[in-house]
Amino acid sequence: MSGRLLVEPADNPRPAHTHLAWLLEDGRELRFRDPRRFGFVAAQAPLSARRELQELGPDPLTELDVAGLIRRLTGVRAPIKAFLLDQRRVGGIGNIYVCEALHRAGIHPSTPAGRTPRRAVALLEGIRSALELGIRNRGTTLRDYVDSTGVRGNNAATLRVYGRHGKPCPVCGTPVSRRIDAGRSTFFCGRCQRR
Ligand SMILES: [Zn+2]
Repeated sequence: MSGRLLVEPADNPRPAHTHLAWLLEDGRELRFRDPRRFGFVAAQAPLSARRELQELGPDPLTELDVAGLIRRLTGVRAPIKAFLLDQRRVGGIGNIYVCEALHRAGIHPSTPAGRTPRRAVALLEGIRSALELGIRNRGTTLRDYVDSTGVRGNNAATLRVYGRHGKPCPVCGTPVSRRIDAGRSTFFCGRCQRR
């Protein structure tokens, strides 16, 4: 959401909306730049005592296993897409990677979460492979995302469905569909991801 942590030479001019800068031992600065003010900085130890972090669901790469995912999915009526975007249920997956994960798992975004536990192995695998690919490619730059060194990510070229409506699904060739759910774009393949 346009906020950034950047590591830059301390004598580079600080761009507008740099709310805080930490001087590093090597003479560079770690700069927190957040024009839209979605982020915040707080000094507190231990970090885990922060309420925002306590409410955060498990990290799918390090803290979530299939049994834990099944436990969380069971009995949930919300659509699987809303479930995955809810940071209290599973942490750290945004709209792009939810769309990619559901395509990889072959699950329609409207499926009630409580009906997907038997697909949990494929779902966790889809989430992890979509995230790991994004990390390897240093992020998905659609507009202005850059990493801490100011470099644009090149994961956009690997996306299977996100932002590709009307283009062929890389698995079956069916044109990718797009619709709006809760104000967010949802991209999916109507053939690979049946309801
Ligand atoms: Zn398909």
